Amino acid sequence: MDSRISANDALRNIAVIEEHVPGAKVLHPARRYTQIITLLVLVLIPASGLFRIDPEAGGFILLDRQIWFSDMLIVMGFWILVASLLIMMYSLVGAVFCGWMCPQNTVSEWANNLTERLLGRRANMMDVSGQRMQVAVRRKSWLNYLVLGLALLAASMFYALIPMFYFYPPEAIWSFVSFQYDERLAGSLHWIYFVCVAVMLMDITVIRHLLCKYMCIYRVWQHSFKTRDTLHISYDASRSDHCANCNYCVDSCFLDLDPRQPEIFDSCVNCGECVVACDRLHSRSKKLEGPGLLRLTLGDEWKGRYRGALGSFFGRAKSALLATLIGLAMFAGGLLSYEPASFTVERSKAGGSDQMVDYRINVAYKLFRPETMHIRVKGLDDRVYRLEKTDLVFDTAGRQDVLLKLAASLPAGLYRFSVSVESDGGWRSSFNLVHYAGRQPARPVAATVSPGV
Ligand code: SF4
Ligand code: SF4
Repeated sequence: MDSRISANDALRNIAVIEEHVPGAKVLHPARRYTQIITLLVLVLIPASGLFRIDPEAGGFILLDRQIWFSDMLIVMGFWILVASLLIMMYSLVGAVFCGWMCPQNTVSEWANNLTERLLGRRANMMDVSGQRMQVAVRRKSWLNYLVLGLALLAASMFYALIPMFYFYPPEAIWSFVSFQYDERLAGSLHWIYFVCVAVMLMDITVIRHLLCKYMCIYRVWQHSFKTRDTLHISYDASRSDHCANCNYCVDSCFLDLDPRQPEIFDSCVNCGECVVACDRLHSRSKKLEGPGLLRLTLGDEWKGRYRGALGSFFGRAKSALLATLIGLAMFAGGLLSYEPASFTVERSKAGGSDQMVDYRINVAYKLFRPETMHIRVKGLDDRVYRLEKTDLVFDTAGRQDVLLKLAASLPAGLYRFSVSVESDGGWRSSFNLVHYAGRQPARPVAATVSPGV
């Protein structure tokens, strides 16, 4: 052997083991980012006005406009679109929502990790056997308990706020958290919030993944769309000797599943944590060669029977795809024909005067930006009616009433007239009315109201 071997040659002779850690390097961070982004999206969707429930108007807010149940095309199109897309997602990737996006699982994992750090490895898992938490002796400190308790409380307070974004605009939420008076907030909201925080705290402290394991109907619903081709965990049984004395993957599964025995309709949520665990193990081991034994796959790749899962998916998804297109068309059609306002005219029961007969004009404005509406009456002499006001100013969506008073001294007969409302933004509509004036001094006995052009 040449004793004058150069340093470069010496370095070149050192064997380099190439690590294969796609699970640990890609899957795990990708899932974490997805979980965080999902939480942000859950808040941003209502906060941006994209979607919010509007109990006062009896509908919801979509793209910053009120949608009533009478806006059938938008309501039906939206739900058909969402439902069909979800069904396609379940068919292709199974219960990925649970493993990658579910806020309940996200906070449960976070709580488990925090508990593990502060109280030790055995303390994080709650189970139905009623076993007490086993806190590592060296971590039995009041400070650790206190930090854990405060962190869980803060998370509960944040989580309990999220549903409120679906009922109130961000400014009202700010008023709520900064203890300012806001007329939009319900009087009992602080109590409701307090109950939500208590429920959430119980969930984060005790229930955690038990909800996913034993109580979640939505997970079962998603599994009903699963087939052999749906994304699932695949196990390389040809190298099963690697598994001797190893339980790392089972240990990493929050549902306590054994990914080495995959069944089509098991309760796996495709989180991929077992894949990460096995890849991590193989990358660190000097004995185990090759990549990990587990991976997320469509079809059955390991056994050489890859079934063209995408082709199969599109074959199965035809009906759902058709529903998606129909939903999209209805939704788009609904948005194009959307009416930003509407109004009704009806006989007012609050008349009161023997000399006048009242009609109540109720104008509803559905957009969350300022607008001015103008009311006109056509077909009646100016001297026989009085309009309470002709211009209505809206700062935001809402309703306003205007009284139209007809003189009770009208000569007997039928009077045809119309009420029209026009906005500065260009929207206009009108109602045709037929008013019957009886003999004096009797009050008019009937009026019919019919929508005009
Ligand atoms: S982590 Fe990998 S090697 Fe260990 S038991 Fe699971 S599949 Fe086998
Ligand atoms: S088996 Fe693996 S992918 Fe399925 S839930 Fe358990 S850890 Fe997640």
